[in-house]
Amino acid sequence: MSDDHDHHHHDQHSHLPPDPALRVQALETLLVRKGLVDPASLNAIIDTYANEVGPQNGARVVATAWADPAYRDWLLRDATAAIGDLGYEGRQGEHIVALENTPQVHNMVVCTLCSCYPWPVLGLPPAWYKSEAYRSRAVREPRAVLAEFGVALPEETEIRVWDSTSEMRYLVVPRRPPGTEGWSVERLAELVTRDAMIGTGLARTPEETA
Ligand code: FE
Repeated sequence: MSDDHDHHHHDQHSHLPPDPALRVQALETLLVRKGLVDPASLNAIIDTYANEVGPQNGARVVATAWADPAYRDWLLRDATAAIGDLGYEGRQGEHIVALENTPQVHNMVVCTLCSCYPWPVLGLPPAWYKSEAYRSRAVREPRAVLAEFGVALPEETEIRVWDSTSEMRYLVVPRRPPGTEGWSVERLAELVTRDAMIGTGLARTPEETA
């Protein structure tokens, strides 16, 4: 991004109210008044992503990958297609990449610029994901951030931090907990938390759900 662009960007913003919620309100009012947006459909979109689409979708994707090696291979090769095959697609899910955690590598996702996030599989991002603190610290000191989320990994495990963009969004496939051999997809899905799919958590163990 050039300085010119930054400057221009800043100028535009300085004419709007400082609080993001106010800005959104102002934009929505303007769009509705100009007839560019139908308030009912706007509400429908928000309702869908707040209530119907959520981490339960991603959990089913991960559980299916754990249970079915062929699906896992497909997911790692072409996540957008494999996820779409389970019926999850749409806004902010056009290009999803699945990242598989292993004993050697732990993947963690951030959007350093704003809050890009794979909506079709995880729903809307949590507040901390959008926070300045997470966005800056995830890259600088991922191990410390993980510790604050209660995740302690062996020193030899490499932590890879992935920066989401509007073109590329990531879904972490956490490691499958031991003691889950032969479990159904439904049962496995209960172990897969939202944070595990962002990489700021691990999958729950059978003991934790008992
Ligand atoms: Fe973003």
